Amino acid sequence: VPASAPSCGRKPVLLVSRLYQPSNLRDVAQDSRLPGEMSCKSQRLMQQAGLIHPSSPGCYYYLPATIRSMEKLVRVIDQEMQGIGGQKLDMPSLCSADLWKTSERWDLMGKELFRLKDRHGADYCLGPTHEEAVTTLVAHQATLSYRQLPLLLYQITRKFRDEPKPKFGLLRGREFYMKDMYSFDVSEEAAHQTYESVCQAYTRLFTRLGLRCVQVQADTGNIGGKLSHEFQLPADIGEDRLLVCGSCSFSANVETMSSDQSNCPQCETGKLVESKGIEVGHTFYLGKKYSHIFKATFSNAQNKPAVAEMGCYGLGVTRILAAAVEVMSTEEGIRWPGLIAPYQVCVLPPKKGSKVDEATLLAEELVQALGETLPQLRGEVVLDDRTQMTIGKRLKDASKLGYPYVIVVGQGALEETPRFEVICQQTGETVFLSRDGLLDLL
Ligand code: ATP
Ligand code: MG
Ligand code: MG
Ligand code: MG
Repeated sequence: VPASAPSCGRKPVLLVSRLYQPSNLRDVAQDSRLPGEMSCKSQRLMQQAGLIHPSSPGCYYYLPATIRSMEKLVRVIDQEMQGIGGQKLDMPSLCSADLWKTSERWDLMGKELFRLKDRHGADYCLGPTHEEAVTTLVAHQATLSYRQLPLLLYQITRKFRDEPKPKFGLLRGREFYMKDMYSFDVSEEAAHQTYESVCQAYTRLFTRLGLRCVQVQADTGNIGGKLSHEFQLPADIGEDRLLVCGSCSFSANVETMSSDQSNCPQCETGKLVESKGIEVGHTFYLGKKYSHIFKATFSNAQNKPAVAEMGCYGLGVTRILAAAVEVMSTEEGIRWPGLIAPYQVCVLPPKKGSKVDEATLLAEELVQALGETLPQLRGEVVLDDRTQMTIGKRLKDASKLGYPYVIVVGQGALEETPRFEVICQQTGETVFLSRDGLLDLL
């Protein structure tokens, strides 16, 4: 059954009664796999609003509203990545162990790597990241010229990591979506420029989403390399400890400091202030580590083969969704960055039974008109047709899911100069607007 139903012989209207948003709040409380400290606000709110459903530890069903939100996020990420020359591809998740043995990460990754065998007994893993895969791909191109560099390849795919403690819903899954980009450059200098342009694109992305994000110096972990930054969203439940200088631009993950120091290592006078963050992105300058091992070379200006300089850049796509919900929401309801809210507007007709059939028709007509007049709202307006419920109850539900705008079509809408009650959920403000005022606002 489609989520929309024919209405008044006109185009179908999205009806809340038909949307698949099964609330499974009870599972959060009763799920024996989830001790109290393993769940958090975003997980609770997302399960309660029917956005995600737990499957096994660290694995979730992403329900339709989450997919809408994720597709919007992916669109913004694509714009930013392609804006700096990124080209999108898709690499296999089933990765041959040979590549991982060549880079020695087959052993280094330890238990975090999901390993499996095929019917012939050959070893595979489920890709947790793709440095090996992309480097061997580029190495296979015999004719790569310096004129084709920088080459920036990225994908947005599921990654698999057998996390020791999957927790906090989509914030730390064992199966999750990541955007991973890999760059190939002619020289160290060019690679640093590429690195810088990716960091700027990340900063633009978070600015567009309206999320405050800090870029901190970071450890390179088992990915290896020389220069690295993390993009962190400040939040109390964050698992990373950050040190930010009160006087200069210095900021770093505690992991990078040899001892915890209280004075800034950059300006030497400023005091370091500690806070917590959720790591939503990570950039690495890799140098020739992988390109050397896998022989990813290009022909240089002298027509001689040279080993490419590499970088790799991750964004936690599903983690960004949950982190945005975590930092923006109230305890009672989800608040989204406007750009990635699953739906933009919810229209509420009055409760059945009062003398309001006219208002119900008006509400349906409004949903149609919004989509037709404002192209950006096409497919973004839902009608809460559960008119057996009071407006108050439905408003509460709307507040849980976090539509940026909720429009109540009540008695006022039937008057000679119609007035619509509009609740802007981001600010919590309620305003009464004429029809034109409504169109202006949206
Ligand atoms: P963490 O320190 O949180 O374990 P990481 O440093 O291991 O993350 P990276 O290898 O840097 O992660 O991966 C790039 C990005 O992928 C991270 O910045 C994060 O946003 C996201 N990510 C990593 N692990 C997970 C996970 N288990 N669930 C969801 N997103 C993840
Ligand atoms: Mg990790
Ligand atoms: Mg980390
Ligand atoms: Mg990291």
